[in-house]
Amino acid sequence: MGYIELNVLNNNESPLAMGIDLGTTNSLAAVWKEGRPVVIKPDGAPSGSVPSVIHLPERGEAVVGHKAREQAIVDPRHTIFSIKRLMGRGLADVQADLTAFPFPVEEDANGVLRVQAHGREYTPEQLSSLILMRVHDLACRSMGGGEITRAVITVPAYFDDTQRQATRDAARLAGLDVMRIINEPTAASLAYGLDQSATGKIAVYDLGGGTFDISILSIEEGVFRVLSTNGDTHLGGDDFDAALVQLVLERLDQRLSREELADPALQRAARLAAEKCKHELSAKPEADLHLVLPDSGINVRRNVTREEFEALVQPLVQRTLDACRRALSDAGLEPREVSEVVLVGGSTRMPVVRKAVEDFFGRLPHTELNPDEVVALGAAVQAHILTGGSRDLLLMDVTPLSLGLETMGGAVAKVIARNSTIPCQATEGFTTYVDNQTGLDFNIVQGERELASDCRSLGRFKLSGIPPLPAGMARVAVRFHVDADGLLKVTAREESTGATASITVQPKHGLTDEQVETMLADSLTYAREDFEAGRAAGLVTELGTMIRATERNLPHVADDLDPEARADIRDALAEAKAAAETHDAKRLQAARDALEQATLPLAALLMDQVAKKALAGKSLTDV
Ligand code: ADP
Ligand code: MG
Repeated sequence: MGYIELNVLNNNESPLAMGIDLGTTNSLAAVWKEGRPVVIKPDGAPSGSVPSVIHLPERGEAVVGHKAREQAIVDPRHTIFSIKRLMGRGLADVQADLTAFPFPVEEDANGVLRVQAHGREYTPEQLSSLILMRVHDLACRSMGGGEITRAVITVPAYFDDTQRQATRDAARLAGLDVMRIINEPTAASLAYGLDQSATGKIAVYDLGGGTFDISILSIEEGVFRVLSTNGDTHLGGDDFDAALVQLVLERLDQRLSREELADPALQRAARLAAEKCKHELSAKPEADLHLVLPDSGINVRRNVTREEFEALVQPLVQRTLDACRRALSDAGLEPREVSEVVLVGGSTRMPVVRKAVEDFFGRLPHTELNPDEVVALGAAVQAHILTGGSRDLLLMDVTPLSLGLETMGGAVAKVIARNSTIPCQATEGFTTYVDNQTGLDFNIVQGERELASDCRSLGRFKLSGIPPLPAGMARVAVRFHVDADGLLKVTAREESTGATASITVQPKHGLTDEQVETMLADSLTYAREDFEAGRAAGLVTELGTMIRATERNLPHVADDLDPEARADIRDALAEAKAAAETHDAKRLQAARDALEQATLPLAALLMDQVAKKALAGKSLTDV
């Protein structure tokens, strides 16, 4: 069940634009669709991300993405990676990178870098444009062939003007119309909707493939400001891979000569094997590190436990925290003055990293969105806003019933109100009620009734490890997060020790729409009178909005609606207006639901129009 906000026509005039995360390791695109940003993936693909790797064959077209990445083993000399590091830079800036590149780079008379391959020369802008073209092309094709040329592209917060200009030029070469270049940490914050919170300080911790960036932002009235940035341009997932490569190569020490060990093909294969093992270790307590090179008769397997891996990479994690300390000090802040922490970059999927960041800032970081997608998602939000779309969602999915926790005495503390648009989140503070209590039991409930026993229990979990304190002294933050799929994750964290516990539940699971209706009706029947009056007032407001939106939007599509649908809408409108004059919550509720139902075809038509016009590549302002 969903609640449809009929503001669609307000957004009707906005053509679609794309958000693109042009990453050092991976790049991907996202668009605004049905009221939220989504990453564009080819059908059935697990992810939409394209490795930022280009293979330049002797003859024929350049290959970009996964296929190019495979070429790194067989043809490292012509397989270009990390091109982002060269954007807008001169030879002197990138000495350290060059030693790691198996392909030659030179500087021309104007100080522009050029990558050499097969006697040809390519500027970083040209190579980046190949990545952008690939991402753009894949995205357009996945969306059904329409052409979207407007884009918002992200860059690291520390990129200077030249680097930003180079990124713009790359986009132009790729045939894109750049609406805006925005900072990656800002994009990540937008994806989490942090622009909508009043004021605060945000730490964005971005650990990617080869780089680490920590940015401290301030948000005020929806405007982000970068207070400080820090990081390490040579610290990222690759270094975590390298730690594992050492492990597997130790096995070959005896058998292979030094030259053989240094062979680029062996090195690349070992790196790929290490990365695969690392990914598995993010999900499992142990994994195999398996290196096979049939041509050289190499086949080694080594089991690695997560514990062993975490010990191995501890120094790397510490280095990221050192940078966090410097960034905070530059911003003149203490860790606890940061109100939100956002995790970005594929490498923050590693539990050891998450834990370290949580401990450092003393709060739960945002991890609800995929860390490798969050920048592209935020770019799509920005693109949507820039094309005149409102941040108010077009077509919203909402929580059908309120979500809360049972409190002392069996009452319910509502944490997320019914009809909150998802994804959404809220945090509530709880405490202990007897002295020296070291554990808290949480019962998560769904429903509108005042007593937990009248609501539906979705799950229980226990937080232990609370230090023994007088009653009411422990501070436990409980965060509810409902993701875009309606999955609820509840996390409790005791502030002084950092002890956490969490549970994931599907709030709608097992409840049919009728049950939801019954539970709603029950709550209206049984609730106290003041509650009833409050609900009625809320419904009158809601109905008012819906009536206005319907009346505004109806003329635009009236001709395309069949007469029956039109009549339904007219009837529902009439009843809605009549109900709005009463304080009868039940009647209001019914009128609201009926209007929602009747306007479904209207909403569908509006959505259709938006999509068709956009796909036809027409300017919607002309409609
Ligand atoms: P960038 O911003 O540098 O382009 P990404 O944010 O895409 O990079 O991060 C890429 C890095 O994330 C790679 O080093 C990759 O191995 C790592 N990574 C991706 N998924 C996981 C995982 N499940 N566990 C650990 N590391 C991961
Ligand atoms: Mg990135």
